[in-house]
Amino acid sequence: MRNSLAVIVLGFLILSCSGEVKENSANKYLLININVVDVVSGSIKPNMAILIDSATISKIGTIDALKGEVPENQQIDAAGKYAIPGLWDMHVHMEGKDLVVDNKALLPVFLAYGITTVRDCASDLGEQVLAWRDEINRGELIGPTIYTAGRKLEGKNSIWKDDLEIENEEELNQMLDKLDAYHVDFVKITENTLSGDLFLKSVKAAHGRGYRVSGHVPIDLTIEELVDAGFTSIEHASYLLRLGSDEHKIKQAVLNGSLSKSDAANRYIDQFDQEKAITAYEALGKKGYFVTPTLIGGRQLAFLEEDNHQQDDFLKYLTKRFTDNYAWRIGRMAGDTPEQKQKRKDTYRLIAKQLPYLQAAGVNIMAGSDAAALNTYVYPAASLIEELGIFQQSGLKPDQILRTATINGAKYFGVLDETSTIDEGKVADLVLLNDNPLEDINAVKNISAVIAKGQYFDRNELDAMLQQAAQTKLALDKERQD
Ligand SMILES: [Zn+2]
Repeated sequence: MRNSLAVIVLGFLILSCSGEVKENSANKYLLININVVDVVSGSIKPNMAILIDSATISKIGTIDALKGEVPENQQIDAAGKYAIPGLWDMHVHMEGKDLVVDNKALLPVFLAYGITTVRDCASDLGEQVLAWRDEINRGELIGPTIYTAGRKLEGKNSIWKDDLEIENEEELNQMLDKLDAYHVDFVKITENTLSGDLFLKSVKAAHGRGYRVSGHVPIDLTIEELVDAGFTSIEHASYLLRLGSDEHKIKQAVLNGSLSKSDAANRYIDQFDQEKAITAYEALGKKGYFVTPTLIGGRQLAFLEEDNHQQDDFLKYLTKRFTDNYAWRIGRMAGDTPEQKQKRKDTYRLIAKQLPYLQAAGVNIMAGSDAAALNTYVYPAASLIEELGIFQQSGLKPDQILRTATINGAKYFGVLDETSTIDEGKVADLVLLNDNPLEDINAVKNISAVIAKGQYFDRNELDAMLQQAAQTKLALDKERQD
């Protein structure tokens, strides 16, 4: 990995005496003959040249216009390749206090899968992830650009480990002070033991401090209340099914005790009215609202019995200690009746069916995998690619899908001016594909090279990263055997 092109190029410059070469070309290289995919318009500019200067897309133009920028040995012929912006996985968790080295070894794997940015949605490793974020930003560690919530807000004694647990406004403010000190990129809130009332106060307080706020939707709040309070995105499209019912009525029934929380959850699915939901999606779309569907996790659980995961290729990167966590969710589902199993499949299909409606309504769909050690068979990096495949099966068009995994993430964080499209002046995060992704999104599986903040990794270097991750897994498993 160390002998990547940027470093080789440096050697050339020392030898090069060509007067045509402009100064400071040490960190410059030119991609030529490349098909540039414009994810905004969903079109392709063929036979272009892209000048990368350090971490930036410096110029885009015809080969004739740009070939004088660098000597020939700093030009990379990308004939037949398609350049897309680096992919964003907008929902991952790097978790497990006993899985620090395991997670760290997976960071380059994200790059090898074309994922140059991830949004970490909080975990018990929050402080570690913040440190990795900064190390990657300083160029000390190879991995995707990380945006992270650090640790999330919850109620007391939640099922999740190491949350920032609160039970009143004073504790809420203390924990927000802590998140300020962490310099988190957004605030994540979940509802396992947090009351709707304090959840809503948390959204308002975090929003008031200027944070983007994301998370789950408590059963004793409505989506409308959350959106009005400054909740930036809903994580998991399962919650959107509530928009197919009278949310206020069901919420009131939960609050006055006439409906249990689990009965309320069932009612949202059983009484789902598609037309009603579409109307509500349109209201969200008008606001330019953000949703991260995270379908792959629900799919894996719904089809646990049908799928045999024992031969999954990705297992070669995951330590035994990592995959031992998978038993937790399998155990929680062990007593499911045939009816419950069928309902799991039906619910998954109903949620997946919402995607084209959300898209048509103008909601910003963000591709996110929810990859996590606790999320059974939702593999880091690989599951984002599977998620994109599900989007296509659900009826989204390839250009729409590309936007969910590129510009929509940048829009969420307000950084679209700086990154996530192939335009001059933007961060040089690119993936070169062998096939046209506008014809079939599965083209993202066939990667020729990845450019992360200007650093060029060819196929061999990407394979070396993957091999390194596989070796680390074997070494860790061995070391822990005794
Ligand atoms: Zn999650």
